[in-house]
Amino acid sequence: MSFDLQQLVRTNIRQLKPYASARHEFEGEASVYLDANENSLGSPLQEAFNRYPDPLQWQLKFALAKIKGVPAENIFIGNGSDEVIDLALRIFCEPGRDNIIICPPTYGMYEVSAGINAVEVRKAGLTAGFQLNLSTIMNLVDAQTKIIFVCSPNNPTGNNMHREDIEWLLNNFNGILVVDEAYINFSRQKTCIQELTTYPSLIVMQTLSKAWGLAALRLGLCFASLGIIDLFNKVKPPYNINKASAALGLEALAQVSWVNEAIQQTVAARNSLASRLEQYAFVTKVFESEANFLLVQVTDANGLYHFLTGKGIIVRNRSREPGCENCLRITIGTPQENEILLAAFDNWQQAPPAQQ
Ligand SMILES: *Cc1c(COP(=O)(O)O)cnc(C)c1O
Repeated sequence: MSFDLQQLVRTNIRQLKPYASARHEFEGEASVYLDANENSLGSPLQEAFNRYPDPLQWQLKFALAKIKGVPAENIFIGNGSDEVIDLALRIFCEPGRDNIIICPPTYGMYEVSAGINAVEVRKAGLTAGFQLNLSTIMNLVDAQTKIIFVCSPNNPTGNNMHREDIEWLLNNFNGILVVDEAYINFSRQKTCIQELTTYPSLIVMQTLSKAWGLAALRLGLCFASLGIIDLFNKVKPPYNINKASAALGLEALAQVSWVNEAIQQTVAARNSLASRLEQYAFVTKVFESEANFLLVQVTDANGLYHFLTGKGIIVRNRSREPGCENCLRITIGTPQENEILLAAFDNWQQAPPAQQ
């Protein structure tokens, strides 16, 4: 199998001459910047937000490089993972012609983003054990299949995909394999980042929205070969990450120990919540989770969902997803929130069956 990145890229993207800001050619050398029509007087705010930010967020990338053990040049930062997904589709998939493969039940944005980009979505459902169905996937692959999205740990099922299956796809699929590791910090499985040196077709996505607790800042991470990172930089909006987010992200990255502590607490709370939920007669299954949520199967998911909503407790009803009949996805809360949830479960247990 010979992987040819340029051949996978859409023709218009291959030929694209990206937007260039004159500024970064002179960074550090000049003292009078009259090139970008900014407000030279400043802004109403204390902090200096009047200048356009670094389009490549090098400071943030250097800090990430240290933590992740990967060169800063192999990192792209998106305005949330959602931007990374959208860019991947726009770089590789010709609208109305190319297709991608997803493995439901899985994260909804792959399909939404493909729909927006007029890219066909082919679905290779997970096995009964929520693992990749390699033969189904390969039966769907044709010359127009550009990307396979694999989510591990998977949302909403919470389990890791087998590492051997991911490697099998890397060795046998001649397009881009995106491995979405949004929940990797909660998992016992190691990240695929170290496979980047072996597989030029691999894109690993992570995010600062989950374990790092920065969902509001919109910092999605992408790790890939220099060639792929180059394409992302060419296609992204020039200033996709704003200065406030980059600065706050950098501040957070200096506090790894806070995050590690939060991960430990979350994992411990997840495991104890799982065993307590299993005690209820109406809970038919709590799926093993490697993430910061639990997929819980009950006898009447819609009824329980509305009961919880009525008590001001919002969970995610996933019962319409394939293989998730009567399943709710429940995020691990604070110790107090978890107790409130369990108290509501107690009440549901005692509630008389709804009148038909
Ligand atoms: C939450 C989540 C993300 C993160 O999205 P952001 O846009 O970075 O907040 C990515 N992938 C999956 C599977 C998720 O569940």
